[in-house]
Amino acid sequence: MGTAQIIATALAAVVTLVAVGLAVRAVRQMTAVIRLGGPDPARFTDKGTRARTMLVETAGHTRMLKWSVVGAAHWFVMVAFVVLSLLVLEAYFEVVDPDLGLPVIGHWTVFGLVTEWIGVLGMVGILVLVVIRQRARRAPRSRFTGSTMWQGYFVEAIIVAVLVCGFLIRGFKVATDHFEYPVWATPVSHAVGAVLPAWSDGATWTALVKICISMAWLITISLTVTMGVAWHRFLAFPNIFFKRAPEKPAGSGLGALRPMMSNGEPLDFEEADPEKDQFGVAQVEQFTWKGLLDFSTCTECGRCQSQCPAWNTAKPLSPKLLVLSLRDHAYAKAPYLLAGGGKDLTGEEKATEAQLAHMDVLALAEGNRPLIGTEAEQGVIDPDVLWSCTTCGACVEQCPVDIEHVDHIVDMRRYQVLIESSFPAEAGVMLRNLENKGNPWGAPQNTREDWTKGLDFEVPRVGEKDFEYLFWVGCAGAFEDRAKKTTRAVATLLHEAGVDYAILGEGETCSGDPARRIGNEFIFQMLAQQNVETLQEAGVKKIVATCPHCFNTLGNEYEQLGLKVEVVHHTQLLAHLVKAGRLTPVQPIEGDVTYHDPCYLGRHNRVFDAPREVLGEAATLVEMPRNSERSFCCGAGGARMWMEEKIGKRINVERTEEALATGAKTIAVGCPFCYTMIGDGVTGKGEQENVEVVDVATVLLRSLKQDA
Ligand code: SF4
Ligand code: SF4
Repeated sequence: MGTAQIIATALAAVVTLVAVGLAVRAVRQMTAVIRLGGPDPARFTDKGTRARTMLVETAGHTRMLKWSVVGAAHWFVMVAFVVLSLLVLEAYFEVVDPDLGLPVIGHWTVFGLVTEWIGVLGMVGILVLVVIRQRARRAPRSRFTGSTMWQGYFVEAIIVAVLVCGFLIRGFKVATDHFEYPVWATPVSHAVGAVLPAWSDGATWTALVKICISMAWLITISLTVTMGVAWHRFLAFPNIFFKRAPEKPAGSGLGALRPMMSNGEPLDFEEADPEKDQFGVAQVEQFTWKGLLDFSTCTECGRCQSQCPAWNTAKPLSPKLLVLSLRDHAYAKAPYLLAGGGKDLTGEEKATEAQLAHMDVLALAEGNRPLIGTEAEQGVIDPDVLWSCTTCGACVEQCPVDIEHVDHIVDMRRYQVLIESSFPAEAGVMLRNLENKGNPWGAPQNTREDWTKGLDFEVPRVGEKDFEYLFWVGCAGAFEDRAKKTTRAVATLLHEAGVDYAILGEGETCSGDPARRIGNEFIFQMLAQQNVETLQEAGVKKIVATCPHCFNTLGNEYEQLGLKVEVVHHTQLLAHLVKAGRLTPVQPIEGDVTYHDPCYLGRHNRVFDAPREVLGEAATLVEMPRNSERSFCCGAGGARMWMEEKIGKRINVERTEEALATGAKTIAVGCPFCYTMIGDGVTGKGEQENVEVVDVATVLLRSLKQDA
């Protein structure tokens, strides 16, 4: 060992000890913060599926590759990072003796070949990501707005620097004739070696530089535990492993909303006690540990932000910024909580002022910030942010590390509604109507069957005859004029196809979706319980629903209350009836048709094809740029239908403009709320004489009967 090797080895050891010491401290700090969250035992089930999903999503980049160029570039950067770790490890051998390599694989030609090309492709990948970021950030409200840009560039610069060092080390070995790999396997290293001097200590000092750069990265991220762009390389694995619905690797994992939890168990309102049970989330530490892991894992990539209808129409909500605010607050408040500070469920302080007297003033101030509050109140999340969400799920769908934004938003809404009674005033009428009349419009229950009047056939009620499908009409389908047209069209089609169906009529009440999405779990459970009993008494096995919100609630959420039935959307049943030859379109309708995917049918339940199959038989379909998984919300979900939209551009106008730009004469919908929102959008644009909004069922019916 020469002098250069002795000095380089000593320096590498010192810098590594410092970096590893700080990294251990950082990991302990992050673990302590995540452990502040509440219990969530359901995350430990089905470990085999979880492990499989985690491997598929990470190694296969299934989420990232939905954006092909970025996904491919990121895949190479990820693999380069793994290879890079091996090369950094190799540098520890090289500072001792440049001829040493990793045990077993160190001098293997395949190792030389793979590391060479992954290094090159990793650098190309980083270049692509930098260019994409530079171009994207110029747009106003881009996906990078609000991201900590220096952190992304810092991480990328480090990877490039380490890869460059790797090629220089190899180059010096080539120049001094100490390189073991052939030219065919490592042409770049040989090319670099051809221009470098034959400096015998070149590889040693470059290996030291490589170690110092890598440790500078480790030190920096250890001192910045909220640097998600770096930490997600480690945290993404557990975050994906513990995702809510691991059996849905290709989907969004949405569908059912997470039930309201207290102490790790779903809360039953018949036994709930506000002094002992948690009603939603009032403080950041009341999220579960998985929530805090979510916030820690955010990479700040802004994919969620780029798809969010609220953000894209100039509202204050961005799912990314919401997550970052919660993350920064959690880490800033943690010292206060770890010192015993915080409030119990009754709002009482857990520690006295004297006990917290030693506390850093910033942590103390953070501890006293309200979770929901305006800027003047120093709230972490502004109420306008909280109430802007349509629960469309575009954020969850896009997030490459499976962060569950919608559950967190609804948990915060639950506390605001149930304990604080604080929500947009105009939604109060809807909640009162649900409680007193069983429907959001407050219509008399005895008018639920009015839509059947004038039909030239009898609509059977449950109890009158045997039936295969219960036709769940829904409140909109029963009371709202436009939606009633869909109900009548579906009933007519079922009748024509000879389907055995029946309706509940006055026995039906609201499924509870708007109550649950606004955060009123109490009313949801009341309505859901009543419906579950009715459906069980009627012996229902299969349901067909025209409203995707009912379809989602009945099919995915009533299971939480003990009802398990097969639920299909009417477009699925109609597609089946057309395929089976029980409905035969005879003449396509005039003009092109474009289809708007309802969020709760498409993204939340992956029904993309059935409505398109029906429309394909009955018309010429033209797609909007944002369709299927990337469809843009109409603005009505998350109980937004019942709230005024005072900030920014109206979401339904944005979507209607996109639909009108296709030149289609018909905009087909599959949801009564989308029907209203897009219909209003078309009227607002003065296009009601030229463009018609109708349900998929109506399009099909018209292609069967030209006089329909
Ligand atoms: S659910 Fe939709 S509206 Fe809500 S934050 Fe996510 S993308 Fe935005
Ligand atoms: S998509 Fe996920 S990781 Fe990316 S910014 Fe949004 S929450 Fe963070």
